[in-house]
Amino acid sequence: MNEKEIMDLEDKYTINSYYKRPVVIVKGKGAEVWDINGRKYIDCVAGHGVAILGHCHPEIVKAIRDQAERLISCPGTFYNDLRAKLAKKIAEISPSGLNKVFFSNSGAESIECSIKLAKAYTGRTRIIAAKRGFHGRTVGALSLTWKAEYRGPFQSLLGSYVDHVPFGDEEALKERINRETMAVVLEPIQGEAGVFLPPDGYLKAVRDLCDDYGAVLIFDEVQTGFGRTGKIFACEHWKVYPDILCLAKGIAGGLPMGITVAKEEIANSFKPGMHGSTYGGNPLCCASALAAIDILIKERLYKRAEILGSFFKGELEKIAKEHLRLVREVRGLGLMLAIQFRFSLAPKVILKSIDRGVLLLPSGKTIIRLLPPLVITKDQIKTVLEVIDQVLWGLENGGG
Ligand SMILES: *Cc1c(COP(=O)(O)O)cnc(C)c1O
Repeated sequence: MNEKEIMDLEDKYTINSYYKRPVVIVKGKGAEVWDINGRKYIDCVAGHGVAILGHCHPEIVKAIRDQAERLISCPGTFYNDLRAKLAKKIAEISPSGLNKVFFSNSGAESIECSIKLAKAYTGRTRIIAAKRGFHGRTVGALSLTWKAEYRGPFQSLLGSYVDHVPFGDEEALKERINRETMAVVLEPIQGEAGVFLPPDGYLKAVRDLCDDYGAVLIFDEVQTGFGRTGKIFACEHWKVYPDILCLAKGIAGGLPMGITVAKEEIANSFKPGMHGSTYGGNPLCCASALAAIDILIKERLYKRAEILGSFFKGELEKIAKEHLRLVREVRGLGLMLAIQFRFSLAPKVILKSIDRGVLLLPSGKTIIRLLPPLVITKDQIKTVLEVIDQVLWGLENGGG
């Protein structure tokens, strides 16, 4: 099949739910992917931040291959060596006190579990989430997600137990929180909305309010977790720790896995039968996750994210200064970066960067996000910078 035939087939037989980009990706290695015509791209999308260790890391490939020959599926009603090891490992790398895990298959599912835990633990009726927040698209998680485009068509299916407050506004939270609040759910850095960092002191204030009112603090680190921002978990930057931590995306080296990590007293509010997942914690994904955590720690990739991220951001800021007419702001921490434009340039910048061999991620029409694998090289970053600069010069000069 050639490029056009593949695109036509996918368009014809899959439900139209994605903004498609005209690239057929068939191979990946490190921070690069190849399309069906053999063209190479530097991948700053990385499966929306999934390919944290790069594509097809040899140790991940080996772990998956070896485990595939031993055992692929094993439900949670039986014990399994890899699941046991992974649960211990997650408890070890999670902030102290977070030591009981539930395994599922996606970010949204890790959120679903956290909502049910908060309900079971507190017996209360309401949840507070943030405006601009993103927590996934299953019906429970979508209740917490802010964006009207995602929620609007399904509003009547969604829980009416959620209040959204502006992210970063301590006073707004203070007004909203009360003794019916079962949980406050936040991304420590808002990702999907376009990489918005919390103001100084905000997360600490949220923590204190949750403690004052006996509400469960849930951090959604599906995107920020696993080294992306320069620490294993973003909450470590502010030394503010949640009662429940939600993980997914890069945690299993690219295979699907969601993990909900909870404090023991909260976890204990589940009794057998109250939650479950057929695939959750299957040995194949556990093997991959164990290898992924090993690599992250052994290669200190979070440190690499910090160092390369600070270089990358500094250079993007220089480019922004050259293009003040187009660029409003550069934001980010570690290798979680965004450029906000003054007008709807994101779709154009993305298409023109594809032509020049760089894949970028949009956040709406005015923001592009960069979530490259943490193994990206400095030279690759320099190429990305050149491409962004060239594309912006093209737009300054009237579209070209
Ligand atoms: C991607 C993401 C999710 C949803 O993850 P899925 O695996 O697509 O369900 C939830 N929360 C955050 C912060 C995310 O970035």
